[in-house]
Amino acid sequence: MTGPAHMHAMVLDAPHHDLRYRTIARPEPGPGQVLVRVSACAVCRTDLHVVDGDLTEPALPIVPGHEIVGHVVEAGEEVERLFPGDRVGIPWLGWTCGHCAYCLSGQENLCPDARFTGYQIDGGYAEYTVADARYCFPIHGHYTDAGAAPLLCAGLIGYRSLVMAGDAERLGVYGFGAAAHIVAQVARFQGRRLFAFTRKGDSAAQAFAMRLGAEWVGGSDQMPPEQLDAAIIFAPVGSLVPAALRAIRPGGTVVCGGIHMSDIPAFPYDDLWREKKIISVANLTRRDGEEFLELAPKVPVKTEIETFSMDQANEALRRLRDGELTGAAVLMPNPSPEAAAGTSC
Ligand SMILES: [Zn+2]
Ligand SMILES: [Zn+2]
Repeated sequence: MTGPAHMHAMVLDAPHHDLRYRTIARPEPGPGQVLVRVSACAVCRTDLHVVDGDLTEPALPIVPGHEIVGHVVEAGEEVERLFPGDRVGIPWLGWTCGHCAYCLSGQENLCPDARFTGYQIDGGYAEYTVADARYCFPIHGHYTDAGAAPLLCAGLIGYRSLVMAGDAERLGVYGFGAAAHIVAQVARFQGRRLFAFTRKGDSAAQAFAMRLGAEWVGGSDQMPPEQLDAAIIFAPVGSLVPAALRAIRPGGTVVCGGIHMSDIPAFPYDDLWREKKIISVANLTRRDGEEFLELAPKVPVKTEIETFSMDQANEALRRLRDGELTGAAVLMPNPSPEAAAGTSC
């Protein structure tokens, strides 16, 4: 083992409780795994769903965080393409079985035995983490560590949602947070027209959307000035599904981009009729990651971030829950003399 035997981490012992700042054993990489010193870890709404108990299968106690950027410190046996010093991104998809019908058909995001970072595998709210090398991505030099972190989930899931929206030119986005701010830039780069829906009266989010190229912004209770070809819902609010269905044209698509949503209220069949579609997005494939991380510096996607020290994770989560963030919160490990003696970056 190189470096310290212990590390600081924010740990969730049970849902509905604050994370606790703890000193725990530093993990060691097994075969096929890399030990990564975390430089930055963005805070995703999914982390909030884990802490709030909306997602019911965490491997407790768990270190949350699945938008991780760091540097490889040590590679375990059988690791082929990563070496100490390499900068990597670690996403939500942490492991899949590799042999089920989904894994074999390009849908590893649906593997029934998949394991997820910060949910079943300890994640990045820590000084170090261990990841299966096959699920790590190289990170383009264009980005700082903190600037790249939101690309790993807000970016990847946002990108998968955008792909599900097909070739829609008039694109609506409901909920203008971390994922939407990245999708907006890619959508504009692709020549799409952007219509942004925020919480009623959320002028900060509306100004943010305008700055990122939305040609129209409004409350989610409003109708856009013209029919949309597709709409992506990032806000975890089920009542937005019928609202979005009413805003799209016949044949259009509503994409639900979140992992959790409140119940969808009953609505008249007429709102769905004329071949409108509702589709959800679940997780990501490694191919999504490769495609998006290659595209991001070409746009170039600029991430809007607010940094917090790792021990402020509860505060970052609270602000996300209360809608007080513009862009993405990113946690930076607290400086510790032991860790500072590790790899340089
Ligand atoms: Zn599988
Ligand atoms: Zn996420």
